[in-house]
Amino acid sequence: MKKTIYMDNSATTPVKKEVLDEMVPYFTELYGNPSSIYELGRKSKAAIESSREKIANAIGAKSREIFFTGSGSEADNWAIKGVAYANKNKGNHIITTKTEHHAVLHTCQYLEKNGFEVTYLDVDEYGLIDLDEFKNSIKENTILVTIMFGNNEIGTIQPIEEIGRITKEKGVYFHTDAVQAIGHVKIDVEAMNIDMLAMAAHKFYGPKGIGALYIKQGTKIDALISGGAQERRKRAGTENVPYIVGMAKAIEIAYEEMEESNVKLIALRNKLMKKIEENIPYVKLNGHPEKRLPGNVNFSFRFIEGESLLLSLDMVGIAASSGSACTSGSLEPSHVMLAIGLSHEVAHGSLRLSLGDFNTEEEIDYVVENLVTIVDRLRQMSPLYEKIKEEK
Ligand SMILES: *Cc1c(COP(=O)(O)O)cnc(C)c1O
Repeated sequence: MKKTIYMDNSATTPVKKEVLDEMVPYFTELYGNPSSIYELGRKSKAAIESSREKIANAIGAKSREIFFTGSGSEADNWAIKGVAYANKNKGNHIITTKTEHHAVLHTCQYLEKNGFEVTYLDVDEYGLIDLDEFKNSIKENTILVTIMFGNNEIGTIQPIEEIGRITKEKGVYFHTDAVQAIGHVKIDVEAMNIDMLAMAAHKFYGPKGIGALYIKQGTKIDALISGGAQERRKRAGTENVPYIVGMAKAIEIAYEEMEESNVKLIALRNKLMKKIEENIPYVKLNGHPEKRLPGNVNFSFRFIEGESLLLSLDMVGIAASSGSACTSGSLEPSHVMLAIGLSHEVAHGSLRLSLGDFNTEEEIDYVVENLVTIVDRLRQMSPLYEKIKEEK
C-alpha cells in the first residue's frame, strides 16, 4: 500500500503506541471483571478509577463526575435526553445552534418529536453565535443549553466561558460537545460553568468506541442504561477496561504535550492556509481566522465539487474530507456550510484538511502542489469557470 498523507484528524486519529502498550495487558492478563471481589477484579476496578481520575484532572472535574460511554455520540445523546426527560416538569425548551454535530442535532430533532421545543441559534459568517441573541432566547421554560466547544467542520471555537456565565445566571443546564476541543484547548469545567461535557478518545489518539460524559455533581439527569451498578448506576454494563485505560493514557499525553503540539499544529496550519491562498485563486477560508482549532483548515474552492476533489486527492494518497454529506449517500451540502451563509455552489466546493501530531512540513508542500494541479484540472471542466475567465 502506498503511504497515506493523512489530513483527516478531525474524523479520527491513530492510536499512539504508548496508548496501545498501556491497553494490551488489560485484554490478556488483567482481564478480571471490575465488579468481582477477588484480586484480578480489584485490579481492573483500580485501573478504571485511576483512569477516571486522570480524565477528571484534565478538565478540572472530580473523579465521581466522569462517566464512561461507548462514544462521543453516546455522551451527547445521554446529556441531552437524560437532562430533558429528568427535568421536563420544569420546562420543555432546549437551546442549541445550527452548526452542531449530528449527535446533538439529531438528538434535538428526536426530542422535538417527543414534546420538547428546540431553538436552533443562527451563527455569523465565521460560525460564531451572537451572545445577546442567545441570552434573549432563554425563556421561563428553558431547561438546557447545548452548544459545542469547537466545530468539527470549520474549527470555530464558541465563547464557552461567556455562555457558561449566562446559563449559570439563568439557572439552566449547560452541555458542551467538546469532542474536537479536548486535548487542544484548556478546559476548566468549574471556571467555565459547564454542567456536562462530551468527549471521545479516538479524536485524541486513543481507541475508537470509548468516550466519556462529565456530569457536574448534583445535575438532575436520567440513567442511560439500566442494569448493574456500574458508573454509579447510571450506565450499566461491564466496563470496557482496556479502552478506558487507553483513553486515560491518551488524555494524559494530550495534556502533557498540548502546548508543544499546538505550537506545531498552528505553524503547519498557517503555512497550509497561506500557501493555498497564495497559489490558488477563487478560494475562501471557512471558519474564524483566529478563534479556531489548531489543526483545522477549511476552504471553499469555487467552481469545483468537493467530492471530485476528494477522489482526486485520494488518487495521490491524500486523505481529507469535504463539507458535503455526499460520503453518507446524500448530495445535500453540510448544514454547517449553509449556516455560515455559503451558497449551495460554494458549500459544495469545500474541503477540510485537519492536521494532527504526525503531519510534517513536507506533507504540507506535497498537498499544496497536488491541490494546485487538481483544482486547475477540475476547473478546466467547469463551464462556470470558463465563463468567469472570459469575462476577465
Ligand atoms: C467525532 C465527533 C462526535 C462523535 O464522536 P464519536 O465518538 O464518533 O461518536 C461528536 N461531536 C463532534 C464535534 C465530533 O467531532
